[in-house]
Amino acid sequence: MDFNFSPLEKMVQKTARDFCEKEITKIDAYMAEHNDYPPDLLQRFAKSRLLGMDVPKEFGGIGSTNFNLILFAEEIGKTGSTSMLPFFMNNSVAETICYWGTDEMKQKFVPPLCDGSSWASMAFTEPGTGSDPKALTMVAEPDGDDFILNGTKRFISMANKPGCGVFFAKDLSLTGSKKDTTAFIVDKSSPGISFSGHYELMGLDGADTCDVFFKDVRVPKANILGEQGKGFKILLRWIAGERIQQCAAMVGGAQGALEEAARYSKERVVGGFPLGFMQGFTWMLAEMKTKVDACRLMVYRTILLQDQKQPFEVPSAELKVFVVPMAQEVCRMAVQIHGSYGYSKEYKVEKLFRNAMHGGIVASSLEINKTIAGMAYLAGR
Ligand SMILES: Cc1cc2nc3c(=O)[nH]c(=O)nc-3n(C[C@H](O)[C@H](O)[C@H](O)COP(=O)(O)OP(=O)(O)OC[C@H]3O[C@@H](n4cnc5c(N)ncnc54)[C@H](O)[C@@H]3O)c2cc1C
Repeated sequence: MDFNFSPLEKMVQKTARDFCEKEITKIDAYMAEHNDYPPDLLQRFAKSRLLGMDVPKEFGGIGSTNFNLILFAEEIGKTGSTSMLPFFMNNSVAETICYWGTDEMKQKFVPPLCDGSSWASMAFTEPGTGSDPKALTMVAEPDGDDFILNGTKRFISMANKPGCGVFFAKDLSLTGSKKDTTAFIVDKSSPGISFSGHYELMGLDGADTCDVFFKDVRVPKANILGEQGKGFKILLRWIAGERIQQCAAMVGGAQGALEEAARYSKERVVGGFPLGFMQGFTWMLAEMKTKVDACRLMVYRTILLQDQKQPFEVPSAELKVFVVPMAQEVCRMAVQIHGSYGYSKEYKVEKLFRNAMHGGIVASSLEINKTIAGMAYLAGR
């Protein structure tokens, strides 16, 4: 066992830090002005070799590891920039198509996800549910060489951007016990697709999360990803990977909050002494740092399982159960240390705290992850 980074990993970390230093301020300034992503955001990631990280070179990827990906996730999470969402989505959807797709699918859909010309989406949630696949109401009916999709997807990230998305629907061509969910790769500019405006969210400022309406949308049968009726397996594997990226970003956010809190503790004078010299605050900083370090190690352990092609679905649920409350608590403590300044938008910890709240809900809720982890443990897995 070795806790040191290889020269390549150190280089990836440096590239990530350089990207965050040079690009993120400009990206966030655009997003603050336009309440949306810069149109060339993905190309900027691609130029720095940050897309298709775990995708083979023959499909336009970098052929790197998920471990390297999460090194970047941590750095971008530290900035609090919402641009992390398209970074995650393009990487994870490209990886998913490579894992489940046919060669034709990989050749058609993956290179544009890696060069940044296609914005990926993954669409499961609907008005009636974000957790229960049995409650899905989007339907897919066969018609010649196509399926016709009808229904509404809710809270879908990057849905209104050009590119492809994986959409999950009840497959009406299957009957009886086989009646289940099928995953379709959909061109989001297909006739019959329309969108709501963005949701205004508590955090993740500028995210373009919206509803997607399907009215008789034709999708070729050739676009069925994986096995027909087995879409939920695809969703579960994708979401397990997404949880690790999300937790890495949350570790980054918590690290950012810790550093802000430490700086403020040295600068702010209370009763003639810097705040950090009061034992209560020193202890808070110690707790925060310990929590961040423990979470980071657990992220590394879990991502290594994915890179080593070992099962990572349950460990990634356990990861979320551990990291989300820890990271949220660290961000809360950072706000508390800042006093009223922490509650004001002038200080970065306010944004990091709001962002941290998404971790318990998005990419499967905390409760669902507790259920996955608890049931697996009871079953001896
Ligand atoms: C910024 C943002 C981006 C998003 N992006 C996407 C996206 O790209 N694609 C996508 O598909 N979705 C996306 N979502 C939706 C998100 O993943 C869902 O909202 C989330 O999974 C929760 O679903 P829900 O809101 O329907 O809650 P529900 O499923 O209605 O759950 C409500 C509450 O009940 C709890 N609960 C539900 N079922 C159980 C159970 N069996 N046992 C115990 N507790 C339970 C939940 O934990 C939660 O606390 C996004 C959401 C946000 C806010």
